[in-house]
Amino acid sequence: MQTRFPPELLADPRHAAAEAIVRKCVHCGLCTATCPTYVTLGNELDSPRGRIYLIKDMLENGRAADSRTMLHLDRCLTCLACTTTCPSGVDYARLIDLARQHVERTGRRPLADRALRGLLAVVLPYPRRFRTALRLSAPFRFLASILTRNKVLRPIGAMLALAPASVPANTRVAGTARPSGEVRARVALMAGCAQSVLDPAINAATVRLLNRLGVEVVHAAGEGCCGALVQHMGRETSAQAFAAANVRAWMAADRERPLDAVIVTASGCGTTVKDYGHLLADRPDLANDARRIASLAADITEFLARLDLPAARNPMNVSVTYHAACSLQHGQKVTLQPKALLAKAGFTVKEPREPHLCCGSAGVYNILQSEIAGALKARKARNLEAARGEVIAAGNIGCLTQIRSGTDLPVLHTVQLLDWAYGGPAPEGLPARFRVT
Ligand code: SF4
Ligand code: SF4
Repeated sequence: MQTRFPPELLADPRHAAAEAIVRKCVHCGLCTATCPTYVTLGNELDSPRGRIYLIKDMLENGRAADSRTMLHLDRCLTCLACTTTCPSGVDYARLIDLARQHVERTGRRPLADRALRGLLAVVLPYPRRFRTALRLSAPFRFLASILTRNKVLRPIGAMLALAPASVPANTRVAGTARPSGEVRARVALMAGCAQSVLDPAINAATVRLLNRLGVEVVHAAGEGCCGALVQHMGRETSAQAFAAANVRAWMAADRERPLDAVIVTASGCGTTVKDYGHLLADRPDLANDARRIASLAADITEFLARLDLPAARNPMNVSVTYHAACSLQHGQKVTLQPKALLAKAGFTVKEPREPHLCCGSAGVYNILQSEIAGALKARKARNLEAARGEVIAAGNIGCLTQIRSGTDLPVLHTVQLLDWAYGGPAPEGLPARFRVT
């Protein structure tokens, strides 16, 4: 794509980076077919190509973000399906980050929108605050459908609709979980923020499974949210602060005794941690360590695939429909390992139609853009149910929460099923008929 950025703007490294990305786009439009918002809304400005035009126009002319540009950029899920499809290698992920930072710096949002975004940024990334907020909101869940009818109050209704009826007890652990026998690897396990509150059973299953496989698991003191939640709202400084805290925490464990991996069980977070080298590139004190952590980061299924697990001796007699989280398939390009591991563990693996399309979760998207997210959830649930698996598996807490609110089928993390297959307890979310083995 031809660009006309004036030299004074190109002197800014952000503009220069954005210009280099925009120039790679040959406006072929192939990405439009796999973009969930274009497929849903049918508007070119809600496609990757349309958004690239809007970003180019905004940055090239050095102007503040207007309401039209904000509307269409806000509607982007950051699902990165376009990056999988694009034949020209356009780095849309980096471009939308740069654009969102510009929007955050220059755009004027309505007061209610600003207040909501501010609230999400100071509550969701902090497990204690998030748990308290969920507990306080539980009695008001019945208001969800009423509030979603009002345009201003719709995000509050969406939050209430997603809130669980009861909040699991705080089981956050510290220290190191050691295997009983020989240690074959040492890893740090990311506890993160929202997942540790909404579904602590996921990391509990991970620790059990890794320990049984001879892997020592470190829970590093001081780690927390990966920074993705605020990064996707254009709050770069805040995202860098979260990333810096995590890098320091995991590097302390690495210096004590080298780590073989930093394991992440929420793929949305994994995508961000793998990008820490870039996020902290401007921090001379942390850039090297950030690159080391990014190179160690691995989705749990990536790491388990490296361990070469034994094939199951008996079938599990459960068919599993695998939902590929966008952050795992498009963000990290981890596509085969989860399905191969489930099959090797004895499950019958089924694939839904349109596996490339987002479920609509996308961090806080299902709160801020609940109508589009609702349409995508319904489409995803239909496709998953049509695959006729008895259980749905996915590798990201956002997807699990979103899909659970759209289907009656049990929806579990892939690692919970693997833990069960390799000798752990049957997951809590399974109906009783599966739990008798
Ligand atoms: S597929 Fe790539 S090159 Fe083609 S329009 Fe989309 S972003 Fe541009
Ligand atoms: S990230 Fe997803 S929603 Fe955004 S433009 Fe790309 S495909 Fe469309």
